[in-house]
Amino acid sequence: MISVEDHLARILAAVARLAPRELELLEARGCVLAEEVTSPVPLPGFTNSAMDGYAVRSGDVAAASEASPVVLRVAGDIAAGNTEHLTLPDDGCLRIMTGAPMPEGADAVVPVEQTDGGVDRVEIREAAGAGQHVRPAGDDLQVGDTVLPAGTVLGPRQLAVLAAVGRGRVEAVPRPRVAVISTGDELVEPGTVPGFGQVVDSNSLMVAAALGELGADAHQARVRDDTGSFAATLAREAAECDAIITTGGVSMGAYDTVKEVLAAGGEVTFDRVAMQPGKPQGFGLLGPRRCPVFTLPGNPVSTLVSFEVFVAPALRQMAGRSSEVPTVEAVAEHDWTAPEGKVQFARVSLRRSGTGWSAALAGGQGSYVLGGLAAADALAVIPAEVTRVHAGDRVQCRVLGDLEER
Ligand code: AMP
Ligand code: MG
Repeated sequence: MISVEDHLARILAAVARLAPRELELLEARGCVLAEEVTSPVPLPGFTNSAMDGYAVRSGDVAAASEASPVVLRVAGDIAAGNTEHLTLPDDGCLRIMTGAPMPEGADAVVPVEQTDGGVDRVEIREAAGAGQHVRPAGDDLQVGDTVLPAGTVLGPRQLAVLAAVGRGRVEAVPRPRVAVISTGDELVEPGTVPGFGQVVDSNSLMVAAALGELGADAHQARVRDDTGSFAATLAREAAECDAIITTGGVSMGAYDTVKEVLAAGGEVTFDRVAMQPGKPQGFGLLGPRRCPVFTLPGNPVSTLVSFEVFVAPALRQMAGRSSEVPTVEAVAEHDWTAPEGKVQFARVSLRRSGTGWSAALAGGQGSYVLGGLAAADALAVIPAEVTRVHAGDRVQCRVLGDLEER
């Protein structure tokens, strides 16, 4: 048996960051930026009003107050989208809208609320300091400023600033394209009621959804326990995808197709990893493109745990992110047993407890127990040497998905 750390280390040493490509901004959502973006323009691009009001010379309204307003002629309007270069007249002001360019000669905006809202002439009821409610050109970013450094994860806010400085495409690490191949004669398509002896192929659905959460693109294929069709599917996917995940067919039984085909090829190593669940694991680089292949055990809980522990860090690394997955510390709410010599990934539900979290086992812990898995928020990682968790013990938990407050 090999340790969880050793198996993971072997995987991480073998998978590389994908080559960056030019991506459209929305395509790059969740991807890692592979270039430093500097601004070709100032932002704001022109000095503009922060309020709906009147563009004035602050000196003209220095004496204005509620008791003795200053009256100015309104020489016209400037709306957002106005592209003319306007100049403030010597004897008046201009009505201006939020985001509209400030006219030459004006240095302040009096908000409409501090006036009578006049259209031809306006009563200004408060003085305005120079620069009041004005957004100067280049206040946010100047030409040549770094907009985003390489390595930034592109979320909605980062995409917004890229768009604002005029970018439509960026160099980014693309989403890994991952083939999910489930194997088993017993499997039927989700959406069908399984007959006697049949099982719904929930694994490929679960893995595809988990890939989506990680920002990878999934591509599903289901094959029967037939070495010929499995080998053909594998060869096809290895030629096209960035990684392959198989589920099932790696135990010690007859008809364990995945192991039979891949062990013969010699590119994938099969190991027993000191963990529960998820002991039978295989990993290797397949074909001329050296496509990473993860062979996960078929029991649904084992599949999910293996995905979280080995596949997710590898895919994060391929996507140019840190392979580290965040954990939270929780206090065990009750005792439970753990196997000697194996890391236990216990399915737990987390609850807020004071300033921290508490963890309780979520349903049965069998590797086929999907109901318990669905009720869990996290995997409590119990070290190999621990055989009993006691109420009050601190346990490290890997959060699954978004942690909902309760
Ligand atoms: P195997 O590793 O192929 O021997 O499968 C172990 C157990 O997992 C069996 O009970 C299978 O029916 C079940 N199983 C295998 N693949 C899937 C799948 N894609 N979806 C749901 N259960 C599966
Ligand atoms: Mg099987």
